[in-house]
Amino acid sequence: MDISEKISALKTEKGVTILAHYYTPLGVHKIADRIGDSLGLSKIAKNEVETDYILFAGVLFMAETASVLNPAKIILSPDKSAGCPLANFLSGDDIEKYKEKYPNIPVVVYVNTTAETKAHTDICCTSSNAVKIAEKIAEEFKTDTILFGPDKNLASYVRNRTNLNIISIPGRGFCPRHNLFKKQDVINARKDHPKASLIVHPESPPEVQEMADYIGSTSGMINFVEEHENDSGYIIGTEIGLMEHLIWKNPSKNFFPLNTKSLCENMKKITLEKIYSTLKSIETPEEAKYQVKVPSNIAQKALLSIDKMIDYS
Ligand code: SF4
Repeated sequence: MDISEKISALKTEKGVTILAHYYTPLGVHKIADRIGDSLGLSKIAKNEVETDYILFAGVLFMAETASVLNPAKIILSPDKSAGCPLANFLSGDDIEKYKEKYPNIPVVVYVNTTAETKAHTDICCTSSNAVKIAEKIAEEFKTDTILFGPDKNLASYVRNRTNLNIISIPGRGFCPRHNLFKKQDVINARKDHPKASLIVHPESPPEVQEMADYIGSTSGMINFVEEHENDSGYIIGTEIGLMEHLIWKNPSKNFFPLNTKSLCENMKKITLEKIYSTLKSIETPEEAKYQVKVPSNIAQKALLSIDKMIDYS
């Protein structure tokens, strides 16, 4: 048996559901029970998982979100050192300082934040629902201003699609993988593939978003490819894992990376070998090493923020 077959057998034997983000290595997509983006996986973790164990193939904040949504389940992360540099831009203490400076203004944070940060906010959002969430929370608070963090590029995307005054907190937050896309990358890609559709993630810089044919979440980009036939192909402006996924699912279509360096090292830490070791640890003293459990005082507050997002989206 190869390692994928061993993982499939072990996850059935131990009763584990494997949820994987699109940015993990392609081999992980192939053994996962479900693949998705942040919002999709949050909803699945909350409503559709029947097993006692969830193995979350993604960065740590995603496993934390699954833990917050499912306090009765055991959440496992194959590598707890897989963090997210974007999430590190905003802490709960930072938010409290902004709340003092801007009293009675609602705080919206991207789901790419720690549970501790979420616990200090009014509501979370993902890239697919950020505009809707911003409008709904502003309506609830009867205000035209919101605090929005930590991604400055997503904040700009929301600002351009609403009539709201979006205050970006901390104002300098970004994903290192998406923020590296430059106008020159678009010029180069358009020169090489003039008739291809350029589709980018809203974590990309505004000047890149402005040049795109479509801007959307990873799920939105997948839907775009399915719904818009283009024989000349698609230029993909997000983490490289999504492109690998698209090639796997659409072998007859052509895909080109906007920049080959857009690779998230943290997502790539989630390997098949580590998933196998995690599964083997179940019901042994080693299991604790992989468990992700958010303290209940933080989890309860973070849950309000996540639940509100799910209700509003
Ligand atoms: S791609 Fe960017 S936002 Fe996503 S996990 Fe990696 S660093 Fe964080």
